[in-house]
Amino acid sequence: NEETYQVAIVIVPYLEQGHLNPLLNLSRILSSYKLPVFFLGTSTSNRQAKFRLSGWDILDFPTIRFHDLVPVPPDSCSSVSAAVMEKIGSFFTSILLLREPIREFLQEVSSTYRRTVVINDSVCSKALFPSIREGVIGIKPFSISVEIMSSRTKFCAGMSWVVQDAVSIPNTECYCFHTISVFTALSFSCETTKKLLPSPVAEIIAELPPRENTFDSETIEYIKMQRESRNFYSVGLHNSCKEIEGVFIDLLEEQRENKQWAIGPLNPVKISKKKSSEQTHECFSWLDKQDLNSVIYVSFGSTTTLSKEQINELAFGLEQSEQKFIWVLRGADKKGGDNIENVERGSNFDLPEGFEERIKDKGVGFIEKNWAPQLEILAHGSIGGFMSHCGWNSCIESISMGVPMAAWPIHSDQPRNTVLITKVLKIGIIVRDWENRDELVSAAKIENVVRNLMGSAEGEELRRRVTELSSAVKKSVMNGASRKEMDSFVAHITR
Ligand code: UDP
Repeated sequence: NEETYQVAIVIVPYLEQGHLNPLLNLSRILSSYKLPVFFLGTSTSNRQAKFRLSGWDILDFPTIRFHDLVPVPPDSCSSVSAAVMEKIGSFFTSILLLREPIREFLQEVSSTYRRTVVINDSVCSKALFPSIREGVIGIKPFSISVEIMSSRTKFCAGMSWVVQDAVSIPNTECYCFHTISVFTALSFSCETTKKLLPSPVAEIIAELPPRENTFDSETIEYIKMQRESRNFYSVGLHNSCKEIEGVFIDLLEEQRENKQWAIGPLNPVKISKKKSSEQTHECFSWLDKQDLNSVIYVSFGSTTTLSKEQINELAFGLEQSEQKFIWVLRGADKKGGDNIENVERGSNFDLPEGFEERIKDKGVGFIEKNWAPQLEILAHGSIGGFMSHCGWNSCIESISMGVPMAAWPIHSDQPRNTVLITKVLKIGIIVRDWENRDELVSAAKIENVVRNLMGSAEGEELRRRVTELSSAVKKSVMNGASRKEMDSFVAHITR
């Protein structure tokens, strides 16, 4: 109705694929409530986001409008030399270069609509700070002591905003969207949380690797800054649901003392057989010929490239396992910002001699060197396992499609997600422990894990558990807890 149209949603993603995907999916869902959604990005990131959509068609959602921002250095950056900018790294620069264009856009939208609802990736909090200062977003400025590594100190000195409690300005509200699992977002060092954790989760948590070991130092500094900024958000949105992380959602709500909306999984949980990529991508005609649950899908997401030695071991391991596989073998996207147009086309990886020919001749595998339609592949009945780096999107997509995982964490939140998948939910097995992350994973080890996941009673039990979880999750999204959360969030923002 007309009332609904008076509210505009502005989505501010961080420009990396794993961050774009859940927010694209959130846009799709909000659009299905007939809300106008402005999806911000650069022209290249927006083009790529559309190109890489999996499982749905942008044309079916006419209320989503992609807005191309033109990156510009803010005034406060002009005194910063190129060398310092370089040291700060693309992770920071991409956010800063979009700061001013985002502010301008928000000002424009908020003058047109009764209410502007900004949903921003928690990683982008910084991009919004100047807007907050100007009062566009509705939160009073606050002081942040940015203690960052020396190369960035000079740069960030210009950003000392005075942070006070959140005070809303009439027409714009800001919601923080987390692209990580609730399990990862939760601080387990909090004493109350420790006490409330049920057994055996408490014991499992005690063995978690410290965050400092899983993120690089730049990211750790960034997380510290984010922590300081977090309190000004009234609520958080999470790509998860009670069926997957119920206990952790409750604990996080208690920790943050405010509403945490668990509105996921945001990816489509049912894939229509008629979607265009299913018809066009050649892996599907190969998959169609395979037996039920007989193929393992191997992919390490968009941010990871394995070493040449590791690629060799993986190739031999897969071959020796004598299980069918689809292997997405592509280089990682370069990190951040307007550099996102880095789809590696036909990257020339040195696979073991004769490997590709043997795989093709025997018909045992399919190697994809470009972008794969992952969600649709996982939804295919022939897929019976997923060897993954355990990025949160991959985990939640695997759960949605009822596919057990072989977890091979590489960085960031992945070791924690691995614990959630293998020890808490018990829907996957570990390829290599985080403690051994610097070691090459041997072909023999990979062969063993693949056989175990695809052909053992243990693998079968994991498949049974994840199928059960998947059907609970599907119900939750269609007509259960997750759907209610989404309805309630939409009712809240359109009130
Ligand atoms: N993805 C895809 N095709 C690929 C590689 C990745 O569709 O060839 C998608 C995948 O379905 C997921 C996202 O890209 O939605 C990767 O996010 P994830 O959190 O799993 O890992 P990241 O790329 O952030 O490390």
